[in-house]
Amino acid sequence: MTIGILGGGQLGYMLALAGYPLDFHFRFLDPSPQAPVGRIAPRVTAEYTDYEALDKFAHGLALVTYEFENVPVEAARHLAKHVPVFPSPKALEAAQDRLNEKALFQKLGIPTTEFAAVNSTAELDRAIGKLGLPGVLKTRRLGYDGKGQWVLRSQADVAELKKEFPSAPLILENFVNFSRELSILAVRGRAGETAFYPLVENHHRGGILRLSLAPAPQLSDSLQREAENAARQMLEALDYVGVLAVELFECGGRLLANEMAPRVHNSGHWSIEGAVASQFENHLRAVAGLPLGETRALGYCAMLNLIGEVPEPQELLAVSDAHLHLYGKSLRPGRKVGHVTVRAGSALELSVRLKQLPAFFQREEFCISLHASGVAK
Ligand code: AMP
Repeated sequence: MTIGILGGGQLGYMLALAGYPLDFHFRFLDPSPQAPVGRIAPRVTAEYTDYEALDKFAHGLALVTYEFENVPVEAARHLAKHVPVFPSPKALEAAQDRLNEKALFQKLGIPTTEFAAVNSTAELDRAIGKLGLPGVLKTRRLGYDGKGQWVLRSQADVAELKKEFPSAPLILENFVNFSRELSILAVRGRAGETAFYPLVENHHRGGILRLSLAPAPQLSDSLQREAENAARQMLEALDYVGVLAVELFECGGRLLANEMAPRVHNSGHWSIEGAVASQFENHLRAVAGLPLGETRALGYCAMLNLIGEVPEPQELLAVSDAHLHLYGKSLRPGRKVGHVTVRAGSALELSVRLKQLPAFFQREEFCISLHASGVAK
């Protein structure tokens, strides 16, 4: 069976790596001739809006899925006329606009931050009158890794922003004083069966994920259940097929949904070594109509993102149960070029292994010291 994937970045790369043992073949479509999947699978270089290229791409495919959530919905709808597309274009559409996404959380009774639509400076003033400050103003579409976001702490920040007011449709959210950021990876199969990975604790620097701890330290059954219930509601409301990631804030012992991604997710990379079946394998099993694999964690994992630079492998791989993943991308500041997963049998052993990592990882930005304080709690 050949599976078509829209987007040819590292998520697609890891999907293909997980799919080859199941005898799946892959074909990718990406506008960039440098897309990393070119190393391991046939790749069509075309714009997502090039319908002629889409038709050629779809020829002979068993199904189409995505590794990139900003694929134009019209492209997914066009493909769905010829070939099954999972998750459905409807699910893709729901996750592309932060305002609709938050409205959907609210409609389903999933707690989320207070928010308001903003399309002009006058609407910003009205929204601030309603929500107060501090707040976070975000573009409704196409924001990622902290891009297209402005934290407004005071009227002085608001005045500054108004000097170069963004022209895109916006959403203002209450600034949440969260105690930590978590995410849940959920998967739903074609027959409606569901499975959930343990909650993961995420640490960011400069808006980019640097460290994920899985399972999240001090994870209670009730918090896990709360997250699973929220994710299940969303999966069912969208008649979703595949892996869905929901990002959450923990605040006073409760969860607030921040956003979702209709695809495999960076905070699920630990599952390659750290779970019985990885998020990549489970996404493929789901879309192909196979039974879902177990989502149970195999011990304790830390996933460290490599941003713009990579370590010498020699010293890193000398650490027991440390795993290096490089995506074959050229090195550029701010670019996710690989990740490292360290696995251990206990939280304490993980802490020891993280301290054994080479000096490259002992810099503040990798957030390892935060992990150590989590273990000590
Ligand atoms: P997002 O693109 O929505 O995932 O936001 C990127 C990061 O900005 C999040 O991981 C949080 O660290 C922070 N952030 C986003 N929204 C809020 C909010 N409403 N309150 C506080 N921090 C936020």
